Formats: sequence, C-alpha cells, structure tokens
Amino acid sequence: MRRLSNNIDVKRRNRNQIFRYVNKHQRISKPEISHALHLSIPTVLHMINELLAMGLVKKDGELQSTGGRKAVAISPVHDKKSSIGIDITRNHIGLVHTDLSGQVLKYTRLSKPYKNDSAYYKALGAMAMDFKKENIKEEDAFLGYGISVPGIVEPEMERIKHSHALGITNVAFHVFTQYISGDTIFINDANAAAIAEIYNDDQPYDALYLSLSNSVGGAIIKNSDARSNEDNQIHDRLYLGDNWRGGEVGHTTLVPGGEKCYCGKNGCFDVYCSAEKLANLTEGKLGIFFEELEKGNKNFQKMWEEYLEYLAIQVNNLRMIFDCKIIIGGYVGSFIDPSIEKLREKAAKRNTFEKDASYIVPCRYRYETSALGAALQHIEKYISSV
Ligand SMILES: [Zn+2]
Repeated sequence: MRRLSNNIDVKRRNRNQIFRYVNKHQRISKPEISHALHLSIPTVLHMINELLAMGLVKKDGELQSTGGRKAVAISPVHDKKSSIGIDITRNHIGLVHTDLSGQVLKYTRLSKPYKNDSAYYKALGAMAMDFKKENIKEEDAFLGYGISVPGIVEPEMERIKHSHALGITNVAFHVFTQYISGDTIFINDANAAAIAEIYNDDQPYDALYLSLSNSVGGAIIKNSDARSNEDNQIHDRLYLGDNWRGGEVGHTTLVPGGEKCYCGKNGCFDVYCSAEKLANLTEGKLGIFFEELEKGNKNFQKMWEEYLEYLAIQVNNLRMIFDCKIIIGGYVGSFIDPSIEKLREKAAKRNTFEKDASYIVPCRYRYETSALGAALQHIEKYISSV
C-alpha cells in the first residue's frame, strides 16, 4: 500500500514539474523538457498526454529540426484558468485579471474611499462582478478572487485583525465579501506585492520587499527553499511570524525619541519614510512631488535627500539581518528608479561587509502589484493541484 502511494506521489510530482516547466515556456519539444528536467522520454510522453487530455497544454505546430524527424511543439494553455485580484486601499479599489501565465492581463483602478458600511461593500461587490463579466468569458475557467488589504490579516480567524489605513479592527472576511459570489482568499497588501514582484522570475531568490506607501510595511519572501517543494502554497513562501506580523518594518524604531508615529510610539521608520511624508508637500499628490523634484525644487531636493538618508539606514539594517535582495516598492518605489544609485551609495557607506549595494532593486510594478499578488494566490493553488 505504502509503495503504491509512493508511486502515485512520484507520478504526480513529475506531472506537476512538467506542467510548471511548460507553463513558463512557449513552443518547446518533449526532448527539451526531458533534458531540462532530467526525466526519461517515456515519462515526459506519458505526462504530456495527460496534460493534453486535461487541456492544460496544446500541440503548437512543428519545430525546426536539425536532422531526423521534426519535433512537435508543445505550448501552455494559459487561459484554461484565471483569477481576479482586488486591492482595497483607503481611497481606491484596484482590480487585476490574470491567468496561468501570472501576467497582468487587465488592470483598472477606481476611486472609492473605504467606509465600513453596506453601501461600500455593495459597490465593491458590483465592481468585482462587473470586472469579472468583462474579462472572464467562461465560468468554468474562473478560480476566484484574491483580496489584498492594508492591515494584519488573520486567515485562521477569518478576519482583518487591524488596519490603520482603513480605520478598522476585527472585521470578518465575510463582511467584505457579502456581495461577492465566488471563492475568496485574503492577504496583506505588502505580502501580496512581494509575491507579485518575484513570481515570474526564473531564478528563485529570497527577498525583503519594502512597501513605501501611505503607511510603511514589508514582506519577507523565502522563495528559494519554497520552490523546491512543488506542493507549496503561496503563503508558504512568506515568513509570517507568530502573529501574522512578520515584516512589519514600519514600526521599527529609526530615531529614538523621534517624531510621533500614528501608532502612538515615537521615531518609527514609518514616520520618516511613508509616501505621505512626501505627498503631504504637494496636497497628497506624490507624482507632483517627483515632478517638482525633477524640475529642481530646492526645498523638495532637501526633503528627498533626508528621506533617502533615513531609507538607507533601514535598508542597511535589513540587509544585515536578512542578507538578501531588498526590493524598494510601494508608491515611493514606483518613483525610485532615478534615485536608486544614490540610495545604493548611501546604504553602501553604512555597510560593514560590502561596497556593492546592487542588492537594492526598484520594484517592477506601479499600482497593480498588490492586486496581482492577491490574484496569484488562486493561480498558485491551482498549479500546485495539477
Ligand atoms: Zn509606529
């Protein structure tokens, strides 16, 4: 009996590995798959036939041959399954459609200030349903909604424990989803963003994602060991801690006795490096701050210099603790590109061990990150089940 189940496990693992590989490539041959994954040709043939029958891969013409018989090209069927991510922020709702490719297929962001009342939840439900109707043609293909929120998410208790940005404490998931039909999974916004940032990388790596939005958060991704286990769920890649607060770097103390933080303490990192700190200088419009900065506004240049100095201290501290890549994300992250070298220099000056600060990288997405990461939870769950 034991042996039989081992055998089934091995087959399932092989099939999953082959599917993951094909899912990331276009037009590849069975010998190429066999070579890349160190699996025998008969195993690959057998599993590809199973995946063809499941509709997850397709024959895609023939490949140029270097002699001998032409090989059949195999491609993934990305739209076999898809999902929607919803990012709830204080003033907006962002929606993303993705499929098995893990790419953003459609993104929209609507102004909708959050209110903990039924009119808001009704509007949220209507937006979710409309977006689904527009983007997902076959009900069968739809896996569900992933919902990201700026706060502490407790999946075991099925509630948002606390969200400063939304001004709520202990609100159950079902309150948010009362007008949404379909499977839903909740996730913290910084955790979701971190997942999205590195999901499509071929080389798995560990990272710390810094979310520099109106509040400051972070997420710790342990991607390299999670990838070696095909059965992992997306949250297995996150270090969540004992109380689901792992990565809450916003409330580490940066300046003892410093400025007052909204959390009630003094000198938190959040006070010095939130997006609001800069946006408040331009009536809440962060984009305008960076436009003015580029035009040479002396006052803003001074503010930005100071901001980068504080950020460099935190980045260097995190590098010392985690020794991994640090992704500068959130609203400020989407404007960091022109200043990344300056930030690297400042961080390198503080570093005891290394002069090279190329471990600091700008994020690749702007506003759609958290919604994408939320949607990817369903995609990863499905891929793990293949
Ligand atoms: Zn604080």
